[in-house]
Amino acid sequence: MKHTKIVDLLTGKNLLHEVKAKGWVKTFRNNQFIALNDGSTINNIQCVVDLDKFPAELLKKVNTGAAISVTGTLIESKGAGQNVEIQVNKLKVYGEANPEEYPIQPKKHSLEFLRENAHLRIRTNMFGAIMRVRSTLSYAVHKYFQDNGFFYFNAPIITGSDAEGAGEMFRVTSLDFDNVPRTEEGKVNFKEDFFGKSTNLTVSGQLEAETYAMALGSVYTFGPTFRAENSNTSRHLAEFWMIEPEVAFNDLDDNMDLAEDFIKYVVRYTLEKCHDDLVFLDKRLQDEEKNKPQAERSDMSLLEKLNFVLENNFKRVSYTEAVDILRNSKPNKNKKFKYIIDGWGADLQSEHERYLVEKHFKCPVILFDYPAEIKAFYMRMNEDGKTVRAMDILFPGIGEIVGGSQREERYDVLVDKIKSMGIDEEELWWYLDTRKFGTAPHSGFGLGFERLVLFVTGMTNIRDVIPFPRTPQSAEF
Ligand code: ATP
Ligand code: MN
Repeated sequence: MKHTKIVDLLTGKNLLHEVKAKGWVKTFRNNQFIALNDGSTINNIQCVVDLDKFPAELLKKVNTGAAISVTGTLIESKGAGQNVEIQVNKLKVYGEANPEEYPIQPKKHSLEFLRENAHLRIRTNMFGAIMRVRSTLSYAVHKYFQDNGFFYFNAPIITGSDAEGAGEMFRVTSLDFDNVPRTEEGKVNFKEDFFGKSTNLTVSGQLEAETYAMALGSVYTFGPTFRAENSNTSRHLAEFWMIEPEVAFNDLDDNMDLAEDFIKYVVRYTLEKCHDDLVFLDKRLQDEEKNKPQAERSDMSLLEKLNFVLENNFKRVSYTEAVDILRNSKPNKNKKFKYIIDGWGADLQSEHERYLVEKHFKCPVILFDYPAEIKAFYMRMNEDGKTVRAMDILFPGIGEIVGGSQREERYDVLVDKIKSMGIDEEELWWYLDTRKFGTAPHSGFGLGFERLVLFVTGMTNIRDVIPFPRTPQSAEF
């Protein structure tokens, strides 16, 4: 007999039939009630065991974490907390989990402890919920783009250009570190390296995606990107997944519309598909909040926050306006910010972004028209000669979730910019070709997938929303 997923058993459509379920024991209460979970849903199925029917030796093996199979009749449950349960006739233990050794016991574990056991933390309710939400969000990303005429573009992971300028890179090499080939000047001779040149892991697929947008019209990437930034924050990973749509003929306003519509779609889709998981995570967050001092508590629950994002327009504000607001803000005047804003042109730190979103506007904010000096070379210069057509989307609790821009499509302007920033023009020959041949206005953005998962799950540390986080000094598993 084939087994049925617990998510399907719980619908009750097999009532009074013989069913088989397989999964891992959450708890075994009073030697009578097994709470069984197979990962298909946050909900367990209760399996009722008749003590006299099974040898004590067998029941002793039914510990938290053990993998088992049960066969029995699906009946209506008289107990509170579930509609149906399995009256067990047959019980098989695939693998025990010795309670003296198995780390995931039915009690509250700290997130730090669970990170050290990232291979087992997925067996907790919390991580099951987070990772199902993550999976659903990924699907929604593809669905949104595929339903809207975008083509999925796979950017290379190993890149030969180090001009992207989005952050520090990881080198990719097959050179023998104990015997590095040198040039006559004593430098490392990358001509002898695998690709005959110096290569790195990509920090962004954007430049390559632009070439595809210039032929397919609308494309998106969704893949891993890498940054060797030594920033040990709760929002940065060394390996993270980025979504980067790139659209021919879109200007900055179209770009903002796309980003807002996209984010709302994936949040709405996930709210519908992962209702039980989000209710669980909502409750988890409320419990966390209770431990915080009153002043730091959020005035919205997770579900309220998600719905708030769906129901409200993102506030669009220029960098210049934002700087004015920040300059006159209380924390700036009282020197509460670590970085004081005293003039136009400074890069905004996450404390400033969060002030704008959480204290001033109290909704997601899109900042646009940033100073050219603090943004990448490929962003389109405005008429004022000072600002570029950049946009960042800032979210409550997170800060920057999206960074994007209208791209500089004018060949001469772009070349001048590249030169003035000291970037090697030769290296970008293929990128510049897109401006030489059939150039057109186009725009795109990068959304850090884990930051989106953070927002939707209400988690606060980015290490808890990716299966096996890579951060400075940490690449276990
Ligand atoms: P930040 O200022 O937060 O470090 P950034 O400006 O360097 O981000 P971009 O280069 O604009 O980031 O990348 C686009 C998006 O990728 C960001 O908006 C963010 O969502 C995400 N992102 C960037 N760096 C990281 C990282 N190290 N870990 C996880 N997500 C990241
Ligand atoms: Mn950015």
